[in-house]
Amino acid sequence: MPGAAAGAPFEIAGTRVAPGERVTVDVPLPQLYTHAPMAMPVVVVRGRRDGPRLFVAAAVHGDELNGVEIIRRLLARPGLQRLRGTLIAVPIVNVYGVIQHSRYLPDRRDLNRAFPGSERGSMAARLAHAFMTEIVANATHGIDLHTGAVHRDNLPQIRARLDDAPTAALARAFGVPVLIDANLRDGSLREAAAALSIPMLLYEAGEALRYDEVAIRAGVQGVLNVMRALGMLAPSRRRRPLPEPFVARSSGWVRAPESGIFRAQVPLGAHIEQGERLGVISDPIGAAEVAIVAPGSGIVIGRTNLPLVHEGEALYHVARFADAEEVAEHLETFQTLHDPDAEIPNGETTDGETIE
Ligand SMILES: [Zn+2]
Repeated sequence: MPGAAAGAPFEIAGTRVAPGERVTVDVPLPQLYTHAPMAMPVVVVRGRRDGPRLFVAAAVHGDELNGVEIIRRLLARPGLQRLRGTLIAVPIVNVYGVIQHSRYLPDRRDLNRAFPGSERGSMAARLAHAFMTEIVANATHGIDLHTGAVHRDNLPQIRARLDDAPTAALARAFGVPVLIDANLRDGSLREAAAALSIPMLLYEAGEALRYDEVAIRAGVQGVLNVMRALGMLAPSRRRRPLPEPFVARSSGWVRAPESGIFRAQVPLGAHIEQGERLGVISDPIGAAEVAIVAPGSGIVIGRTNLPLVHEGEALYHVARFADAEEVAEHLETFQTLHDPDAEIPNGETTDGETIE
């Protein structure tokens, strides 16, 4: 698929994009009941030379915003002037959800369970169909940017079909320490892309309705790393190679054994040992206290930020690795590289390019 004929027409929603052009296309969507017109904004950057066509999408879940900022920074990169192939950037897929600060569509459906969608289906199915027709059908590769849910924070991680060699190569190129070999969810964009043999990564980082600087920087860097691996951008001047990422063997949730006020005691990225105390749940008066104990060893890849929990609610998402200690060490280096407050020599990021 990456070998489209040189100079072949590229068209999104009736707008043609010529080699060397950068065009913003408003893909029309069903209007609001207030009569306000709606559109999904897409920026197409087409290089002078043909090459892979990569879509980068954000806010499929309308309250997941880090990806919106990742795409804004990506589009500001001067290196795109020398792009090979085509970048199809969709900073806001679920425009309806973003307006409402909501994960869902106004019909309360989850867009990421509605793919590939249909022209005559539900509201979600129609948006999914528009995305498949205008974006995915024009692409050879994809990256979908997500965050944790409301009040839930995720450690930057890539979820992908690691049993598919081209997808696994992109996952490793992205450059975050933790990879999750994720099964395809029914109705997800990832499943629909896989059905068209389009390698796609899902980047998960940070929390809904918040900007997280480390998650954003790691995301921008990750997309650039993938674009270099695909030959869309010139190779990095980076001296050190990226450390090999670690693939989780499995992951599971530590849940609240009782309802109450939760005091978390381990941060995201922590290496926890079986039997270790992870926090305490007490009643508001402080009369009864229950310790939360790690049922196994691993790395905390997700956690709740809300101290109010009912019995059964998820407190920590823990991934198990062959060598969790080594993962924890790499996570520390990773955090320092992307932390805006950390001392980085000459203001350089991991790829040797100056931070904007
Ligand atoms: Zn999401």
